[in-house]
Amino acid sequence: MLQDAYARRFTYLRLSLTESCNFRCDYCLPDGPDCTSRKEEINLDEIRRVVTAFALLGTRKVRLTGGEPCLRKDLVDVIRTVKAVPGIEEVAMTTNGYRLMKDLDKWVEAGLDAVNVSVDSLDPSTFHLVTGQNKLPEILEGIDRASQSSLKRVKVNTVLLKEHNGKELPEFLEYIRTRPVSLRFIELMQTGDNHAYYRRHHINGESIKETLLEQGWTQRLKSKTAGPAQEFVHPEFAGSMGLIMPYSKDFCADCNRLRVSSRGALFLCLFTENHISLRDLMQSDDPGPLMERIQESVQGKKVSHFLHDKQTGSTKNLSIIGG
Ligand code: SAM
Ligand code: SF4
Repeated sequence: MLQDAYARRFTYLRLSLTESCNFRCDYCLPDGPDCTSRKEEINLDEIRRVVTAFALLGTRKVRLTGGEPCLRKDLVDVIRTVKAVPGIEEVAMTTNGYRLMKDLDKWVEAGLDAVNVSVDSLDPSTFHLVTGQNKLPEILEGIDRASQSSLKRVKVNTVLLKEHNGKELPEFLEYIRTRPVSLRFIELMQTGDNHAYYRRHHINGESIKETLLEQGWTQRLKSKTAGPAQEFVHPEFAGSMGLIMPYSKDFCADCNRLRVSSRGALFLCLFTENHISLRDLMQSDDPGPLMERIQESVQGKKVSHFLHDKQTGSTKNLSIIGG
């Protein structure tokens, strides 16, 4: 079992498949992706080997992310390959939803268990303004289809943005009144590229928490393995609400995740300078050396991120490692 110096256990791997994206979210990739990154992406064999090493070290859940994972032409094979690794119990994916309507059935058939879809506004023009894509109706339709499919879970991720969706809480709550969707409001995080944007748009999730509690929502008790969201439920709503507040006290205390980039580097935290390349060891079917490097590297994981001190590490934006 992978465990760090602070007794945190890592059973969850977030695997980025590409840095590239077809959206231009203005907090993430306003000027588009680094196009040179595509030829550096890890291939299917490398993916199988790295996931095998993590699984042998106790990883049970893998989330495919990006950039936009659905830009990978071999995505269906990636899902099938990761799901077939002994020990992996759940394969999830985070996507902008662009191909959800079209490809959901293929993903589910290949073994996808759960999906998170990013929707930063329920207003089509605000959505267009934030993402650069005028696709909200199709994406919402895709989420409805996903909710009716055999997937175990469908979540919607919304980054809180003061001047865009800062006042949309009532609309979002109405959206989950009848839909069994787990909605997550994520506080905007500062990255290397978005300092001015962060200052302009960051909202603290605490004010939303107060509003929810005033409106009769109750906070669910969290298990040690539950992940970073604070969860809220209400008897009149089919869906649930989650708040991810990375600037809150003890946010990193229960961290259960490690990340591997699409170039094959291990990221111990979203906001770190140190990336440990695993790529050379992904060339052989012997998982031993990979396991050893992962295990040794994890001992260097810091107790917390240092975002409060404006230290964003070398993460210019989250398309590099998938959020
Ligand atoms: N393209 C996919 C998507 O948008 O869902 C997957 C990758 S994206 C980097 C993963 C998640 O990170 C999305 O929900 C996105 O909104 C979120 N994200 C990106 N930049 C962020 C930031 N600076 N602060 C908080 N969340 C961010
Ligand atoms: Fe693309 Fe996701 Fe970043 Fe938006 S948040 S630009 S969809 S990687």
